[in-house]
Amino acid sequence: MDQVLSTQIFNSDIKLSSSQIQEKETSFTSGVYSKRPVVIIRGKGAHLWDADGKDYIDCVGGQGAANIGHANPVIAEAIYKQAQNLISCPEMFYNDQRALLIEKLCTTANMSRVFLCNSGTEAVEAGIKFARLLTGRTEIVAAMRGFHGRTFGALSATWEKKYRAPFEPLVPGYKHIPYNDLDALKQAVTDQTAAVLLEVVQGEGGVNPGKTEFMLGAREICRQTGALLVLDEVQTGFGRTGKMFAFQHDNLDPDILCVAKSIGGGIPMGAALLSSTMKDLQPQVHGSTFGGNPLACAASIAAIDYLQNNHLPERAAELGEWFKSQLSTIQSPLIREVRGKGLMVGIELKQKVTPYLQKLMDLGVMALPAGLTVMRFLPPLVIEKSDLEIVVDKVAQVLTSNIEGAG
Ligand SMILES: *Cc1c(COP(=O)(O)O)cnc(C)c1O
Repeated sequence: MDQVLSTQIFNSDIKLSSSQIQEKETSFTSGVYSKRPVVIIRGKGAHLWDADGKDYIDCVGGQGAANIGHANPVIAEAIYKQAQNLISCPEMFYNDQRALLIEKLCTTANMSRVFLCNSGTEAVEAGIKFARLLTGRTEIVAAMRGFHGRTFGALSATWEKKYRAPFEPLVPGYKHIPYNDLDALKQAVTDQTAAVLLEVVQGEGGVNPGKTEFMLGAREICRQTGALLVLDEVQTGFGRTGKMFAFQHDNLDPDILCVAKSIGGGIPMGAALLSSTMKDLQPQVHGSTFGGNPLACAASIAAIDYLQNNHLPERAAELGEWFKSQLSTIQSPLIREVRGKGLMVGIELKQKVTPYLQKLMDLGVMALPAGLTVMRFLPPLVIEKSDLEIVVDKVAQVLTSNIEGAG
């Protein structure tokens, strides 16, 4: 009986060829994604394997959701155990896993209260709604090239035109200032501003680290005007930049902190955290059916423990510094700049990046774009230095050879 069940449950027992899988997805998918012609079926640490058995070093890292590595056994065990005990438990009830997690989140981030949800955009959406509630104001100031998600509130804060234009009109009351421009921020914030919403390092917008003076200045402007400082650490959180949270580099104290991506070791989850200076929120003003479910909470507890026990933020700081310095030695007329923080690294090219990412994939390294011209690396923080050496080697190869279709 067990045997029969297990073959029914585990889809890996169904054998489809790589091209059959791609055909099926292409036939039935919504179409909103542009996909690479590769079928990924297995992962371990910082490695991925495709359906033909080809091994890749993964610097996509689940777009930032895989900080503790693929198929991490501590997550597998946490999910397995919790799944046998309780999966669904809405927040109309208390729950042991949730209680343990939200205390841990608050301690780790030095915040006071937590709203749990299921994705990055929901975390930002909650942050924006809470800022409106807590200030009684409606306007949001965000940054050009910022990315905050795809639901209407978060999309309205997102800069990129191709994400926004098809869905206008968006939520009114949003302004965008150039990132790292403190004077522009000063001018944009008024007594109607509910929140200044910023990434600490812009991810999707091109791997642009926020300058210390800018972030501290934003903190001060918010204090003076009564606007809330809402930080979007969906991508930078959980060790990515070399600290557990990127705001800790500058000793910032956000009023609201939005996190997601690697919070649950790969399990979908998001959270908006509130500082001790925020007033209490009233019952019924916001909510989520799946938010705070025990399965995700158990995974998140395991993920945060793993990050801390294995000193992965420190590892990201050290390996990231080394990786960036190695990439900087590559002599290529294509490179404009190498930049980043911890293991969040970008190479800005003078040309469109897509053909170079394709070539890199052919050579067994997965990386992702950030905007049109930036090659972005978000490897799991458990990646071996020897694998990063190979990545540097392959990147050098790709950026110093002639590629058809580039330019
Ligand atoms: C990915 C991302 C989001 C959106 O997260 P989703 O889980 O895709 O909704 C929001 N903000 C930042 C900074 C991100 O990197």
